[in-house]
Amino acid sequence: GPEYVRAIAPYQAGKPIAEVAREFGLDEASIVKLASNENPFGVPESSKQAMAATLSELGRYPDANGFALKAVLSKRYGVSPDWITLGNGSNDILEIAAHAFVQGGQSVVYSQYSFAVYALATQGVGARPIVVPAKAYGHDLDAMAASIEDDTRLIYIANPNNPTGTFIAPSEIEAFLKRVPAHVVVVLDEAYNEYLAPEQQFESSQWVRTYPNLLVSRTFSKAYGLAGLRVGFAIAQPALTDLMNRIRQPFNVNSLAQAAAIAALGDKDFLAQGAANNAAGYRQFVEAFAELGLEYVPSFGNFVLVRVGMDDSAGARINLALLKQGVIVRPVGNYGLPQWLRISIGLPRENALFLAALRKALA
Ligand code: PMP
Repeated sequence: GPEYVRAIAPYQAGKPIAEVAREFGLDEASIVKLASNENPFGVPESSKQAMAATLSELGRYPDANGFALKAVLSKRYGVSPDWITLGNGSNDILEIAAHAFVQGGQSVVYSQYSFAVYALATQGVGARPIVVPAKAYGHDLDAMAASIEDDTRLIYIANPNNPTGTFIAPSEIEAFLKRVPAHVVVVLDEAYNEYLAPEQQFESSQWVRTYPNLLVSRTFSKAYGLAGLRVGFAIAQPALTDLMNRIRQPFNVNSLAQAAAIAALGDKDFLAQGAANNAAGYRQFVEAFAELGLEYVPSFGNFVLVRVGMDDSAGARINLALLKQGVIVRPVGNYGLPQWLRISIGLPRENALFLAALRKALA
């Protein structure tokens, strides 16, 4: 295979519950998984019903153009359907963008401690990563703007960011967009947007009207509870969307996913319940971290990054101690954060089980 493919470090997903049960001799039902920023309420009932009604259609291919889902998204975000690209999860969107806008030898800018798929997508097309050092665990937009080179074609920004949970104010993003040359596409990855408090929300999809080089990426995996179905979408002007659609696999979003996403979009109660649980769980976590004297990065997503020790084996050590107690969280050594763990916010009971296991692990 090509040298640039062999250079890729594989994505490390959260350990599945069944694997941890086998490995540590635990009962699956007793395991708490707070590792993949999933929705602790699972699939919305409205989506389950929509999928049940779709089962009999599975002998046919899905709608390759996602007509019905795009129609709902189009109404919701006030853009016409030809401004929307559907993805097999937003990971697909991130990767399609690399294929559509970058060729081997050109460069892609992203931040240190930003989402792992930016590196994978960049390296997957044989492009050169320009990794900009983070500022206070978040994106340093000034440094990112300054790092753009003549051959830069793409910039990835996660807001809120994973794995650090940091958030950049809309005014700063807009100032940044003004500085980026027109031939560089900015992918604004808003996978955790729905967890922001109303006063932090800004309908950034509206910026795509002003900035022809902006692509906003969203997902149904987090607040909408559909991670296992793999559905995400991008909003951008038709010139970008057209290129994305040429690269996209024709049937990249399956029929169940399209139906479930449409239902979830209309389920305001599910979103509200999730947001309230998330805010309460966040307080539950940070109060305990403060009491334990643990440093954490203030988070705007559905997870918190916490420093569990001051030596570089701390993350792996505490992670193992948690696994033995049946609690799965995410070590972030592969992100260059070996002293930290990333914990997804779960239901109050799950959060409490994690905190009890953490206290034991630290003792
Ligand atoms: N972007 C960010 C910042 C993420 O954290 C994630 C999920 N880990 C994704 C995109 C991709 O999620 P999905 O492919 O499930 O939409």
